[in-house]
Amino acid sequence: MTQDANDTAILELCDITRRFGSRNVVDGLSIRLLAGQVTCLLGPSGCGKSTTLRIAAGVDQQTSGRVLINGETVSGDGHHLPPESRGIGLMFQDFALFPHLTVAKNVGFGISRDPNRDVRVRELLGKVGLEDFGDKYPHQLSGGEQQRVALARALAPRPAVMLMDEPFSGLDNRLRDTVRDATLELLKSEGTAVLMVTHEPEEAMRMADQIALMRDGRIVQSGAPYNIYNSPVDRRAAAFFSDIN
Ligand code: ADP
Ligand code: MG
Repeated sequence: MTQDANDTAILELCDITRRFGSRNVVDGLSIRLLAGQVTCLLGPSGCGKSTTLRIAAGVDQQTSGRVLINGETVSGDGHHLPPESRGIGLMFQDFALFPHLTVAKNVGFGISRDPNRDVRVRELLGKVGLEDFGDKYPHQLSGGEQQRVALARALAPRPAVMLMDEPFSGLDNRLRDTVRDATLELLKSEGTAVLMVTHEPEEAMRMADQIALMRDGRIVQSGAPYNIYNSPVDRRAAAFFSDIN
């Protein structure tokens, strides 16, 4: 059967389980990420979100299940492609830039052999509103500015998928909204599919096209933010969303 091209999953996690000792920290989890969409993996601390993201990235390996990117198995069935060969961008809470490199060199780091590198770096710095910052060093930038440079760096090689783990949690409240909006705008303009981990319902509501609500290593509900907010699957899901105002 043929599938509509718009329904082709860029990233697919199929029945992923990850056991630590005798405990399944991820327990039969499946997710499909569609082109150009932001999917938020949302759930309380300790439910297995980061472990899931690390498995998608390839920095950890599942106990069972498969990871597919663009329909190709990158992990499972006896083989495991390392993170750098997966065509993914990574952004974690600690988004450390190279302190000894300028902003422009940081952004161009992963595309050093691209003949259009300088054009791409300028394009991205423009998109994150830092066109005049190319010659500065990371320590001369605010936290929010550094965060935007880190995002530009991750997007420079045009990854099909961005994996982000609580990327805004290090920013203070005042900055966070602005950086979130700028991030979302850039991701949309690049057309990148995103899997973003967060424990904050408000953040997921704000950024996601799809929310996958996670608990005890499983997805308990997934769908559009509005639907999840309005029709939570059970009382625990309702309570989790209840402190959004
Ligand atoms: P979340 O990101 O949702 O807060 P994690 O995926 O980081 O959750 O962790 C889920 C559970 O798995 C936690 O109880 C954590 O202690 C446990 N865990 C994570 N990594 C390891 C590890 N390498 N060894 C043993 N337990 C781990
Ligand atoms: Mg985590």
